[in-house]
Amino acid sequence: MVLADLGRKLNAALSSLNRAPVVDDKVLDALLKEICAALLESDVNVKLVQQLRQKVKTKAKAYFESGADRGKEANRKNVVQKAIYDELVQLVDPGVEPYKPKKGHTNVIMAVGLQGNGKTTTCTKLAVYYQKRGFKSCIVCADTFRAGAFDQTRQSATKAKVAYFGSYTETDPVAIAAQGVVKFKKERFDVIIVDTSGRHKQESELFEEMVQIGQAVKPDMTVLVLDASIGQAAEAQSRAFKESADFGAIIVTKMDGHAKGGGAISAVAATKTPIIFLGVGEHLSDLDKFSPQPFISKLLGMGDVQGLMEHMHEMAAANPDKQKEMAKKLEEGKLSIRDWREQIQNVMNMGPISKIASMIPGLPQEMLEGSDEEGTLRMKRMIYITDSMSAVELDSDGSMFMDLGKDGKPEGLTWRCTRVARGSGTSVREVEELLCQYRMMANMAKQAGGKHGWLQGIQKMQ
Ligand code: GDP
Repeated sequence: MVLADLGRKLNAALSSLNRAPVVDDKVLDALLKEICAALLESDVNVKLVQQLRQKVKTKAKAYFESGADRGKEANRKNVVQKAIYDELVQLVDPGVEPYKPKKGHTNVIMAVGLQGNGKTTTCTKLAVYYQKRGFKSCIVCADTFRAGAFDQTRQSATKAKVAYFGSYTETDPVAIAAQGVVKFKKERFDVIIVDTSGRHKQESELFEEMVQIGQAVKPDMTVLVLDASIGQAAEAQSRAFKESADFGAIIVTKMDGHAKGGGAISAVAATKTPIIFLGVGEHLSDLDKFSPQPFISKLLGMGDVQGLMEHMHEMAAANPDKQKEMAKKLEEGKLSIRDWREQIQNVMNMGPISKIASMIPGLPQEMLEGSDEEGTLRMKRMIYITDSMSAVELDSDGSMFMDLGKDGKPEGLTWRCTRVARGSGTSVREVEELLCQYRMMANMAKQAGGKHGWLQGIQKMQ
């Protein structure tokens, strides 16, 4: 992700502040210069960058001059760091809360935007996102302008196992949108996503069509899909759309490929419209939830505990009974191998490993090593191993895999390990490793005794 570059530069600047023996005006100026250069390189608007510099400077100087630091450099460093963090958050915070789909209500989301911005791809990503969180989701393709639009929706929705609606014969997009929404409402879908057409020319016609579709389907939220590569121009584009279709949220796509991403995000924030997601790749799971504070925390390598917990909550909400049962087991310290397998599967469902891992502050670097594919493969192999276990073994605490000595301590492995390794096409060593990790997690979970399973255990141990 290109923003990682910006993150690295900001981090380097803040580390040099940490190393400085004294924090005076000179150090502050040098630090701000470095930070502002990094932001400008990421295409953030010059005026916004100047404002940030001025505000941090004012806050820091007021503190220096007040004498409240009691001569301690560490206090000065904290104040400067906090001021920078707060101002970076301000830079991407429109100060407006977006609409949140509600359970027990049919939430209609309409997507608008110019052709090629990633609208159709994003609609499927959104459907998958909500589906994973327990919302029965579907897509209505109301794009009759672009040849092949319905085929694209059909293909990606089928791949994502999401219901869809569209027509090869109907040419009126308003009629299709209305029919689709009525049909899916009748079928009690929770989230209905309406994809509209986006074109390059005839803009006034496009806007008129958007207004008519909006009137027909009465969306709870209209989302503008913007391409990050336009950088600061995102502000003008979103203002133009806002004049016609009053959208309540924005998704910025292609954040994975463009150095101008920082510019697009900050420009959008300036229009006082909340960004709800960032598109970060072509895969269906490449959609990151966006909120200002966690975004900056992650950018600065500070983790995102809030985001992680939210993620876990959402996953739990998709299956509340199961999660309650799990919480009870954890409280009683009875986490079986089967339960643990479920937790691994939950994590795999949450998205690419690196994304989850980057939310956990202070996670040992070696756990993040390798690509997402490698991380996923490691987890898959763990699942294969447990697939070769019998029901009794899965429901156990793993001790039956061990030969215990007289003092109750494990002395070796039993024939069960060899059998499971053979059955799963792995090695005895891998089975042993899995059992070892299971025990570690089970112990952590017991210590945490909490609702969110072992991830909370990890947090408590830090
Ligand atoms: P639409 O015309 O707005 O509906 O755009 P499409 O959904 O057809 O997307 C246009 C192109 O952008 C396709 O090749 C998508 O795979 C690609 N795309 C969409 N979102 C992203 C993203 O977040 N990152 C990357 N790298 N490509 C994307």
